[in-house]
Amino acid sequence: MRESMLRNGFVETDRVDACDFYIINSCTVTRNADRDTRNLARHFNKINPSGKIVVAGCYAELDADRETLSAIPGVYRIVRNSQKPGIGAVLSGEEIKCHLRKTEAGNAGVEKNILTITDFKNRNRAFIKIQDGCNHKCSYCKVSLVRGPSRSRVPSEIFEEADCIIKKGFKEIVLTGICLGAWGMDFKGDRFESGGKMDLADIAEEISEIEGLFRIRLSSIEPIYVTDRLINVIKDNGKLCKHIHIPLQSGDGRILKLMRRPYTTLGFRQLIKKLRREMPDIAFTTDVLVGFPGEDDGSFSNTLKFLREIKPSRMHIFSYSERRGTAASGYYGKVEKGIISKRVKILLDLNKEFSSEYTASFIGKTQSAVIESERDRKGGCLSGYTDRYIRIFTDGSDCFKNMLVPVTITGVDYARNAAFARLDNGGIM
Ligand code: SF4
Repeated sequence: MRESMLRNGFVETDRVDACDFYIINSCTVTRNADRDTRNLARHFNKINPSGKIVVAGCYAELDADRETLSAIPGVYRIVRNSQKPGIGAVLSGEEIKCHLRKTEAGNAGVEKNILTITDFKNRNRAFIKIQDGCNHKCSYCKVSLVRGPSRSRVPSEIFEEADCIIKKGFKEIVLTGICLGAWGMDFKGDRFESGGKMDLADIAEEISEIEGLFRIRLSSIEPIYVTDRLINVIKDNGKLCKHIHIPLQSGDGRILKLMRRPYTTLGFRQLIKKLRREMPDIAFTTDVLVGFPGEDDGSFSNTLKFLREIKPSRMHIFSYSERRGTAASGYYGKVEKGIISKRVKILLDLNKEFSSEYTASFIGKTQSAVIESERDRKGGCLSGYTDRYIRIFTDGSDCFKNMLVPVTITGVDYARNAAFARLDNGGIM
């Protein structure tokens, strides 16, 4: 959206009280996210009543939500997800109906963005969205309702964007999508660059062949898409981070069924065993959803037991949030807020234990890290992430900012759930 605005002659300003347009890119994954969007719109209207507030993103997709948003004073326009990459043209009055068009090959279901992203301001990781939508119907999830079925970006467009970003000097590319693992599955034709069907492992491998010193991280992948081939590519390809994020959500079989997650705890356990057989020190991170309707003490303790067994190196913990239109919003057995908070606290402690144990296993070992452009505010150190997603703090000069450098982990920083490290080999990979 930023690039689209700039290309259409808009300029950015830091004067937040003096903008002509305020664009809010909304999220609707939780009720809090919806509330934050409404609060932000009210805030902009308060500080600048003549500013035009534009709301884009998933909260602005469903009719009922659009009505709520439109009623907020100052909200000038709702922009659909399909219009987002062309938002600059939309706001210039040059309305474009749809930013997606069929590929040159004319493959039904395959779409191409007009806009290629060429920069990520104030970030040292570049995110390339290669897929949108989801064919699954998890009972708690509103995202699949607003994003529609899975659609993949065509390889030529992904390479163009990756090539441009690597030439700009970004040292880490994150491949993202709503259901990333489904990339390529909607390709109906067989005339893509590779000469046949492609999947996530193929596209990651092909991007890795672009010349330059950079690494590729895969964002969240549903367990059913973690194939043997993908595991082998992560293992053997030097440019792929040895990190995989596989959302678990619950370690209790009954809750997983209610969530309509397409796997069992048995299958998940086997997958993690296989991963670790191939790469014993891989960073496996996960998501856990707490307080799903029907999650009683027994099912929560099953989740704890299961987590102790599979030991993720890091967990993202979410509280269940009832979303209108989802199957789970009609389920019985709602869990009280206080109980959810207690369970979240238990999991946060467990997360600290797991991640520091994982970090400690790397003491004395060399890792590659991408150094961030800003120093740590408190200590003034350089900071960054290793390819195994361990946050590190190290001494060094500013010349290492935004660089991919070798570091040795020297200790665990328990307070910040991170690691102390020292630069190796003068910072040269
Ligand atoms: S896999 Fe499930 S949770 Fe993830 S986007 Fe699809 S429906 Fe939502």
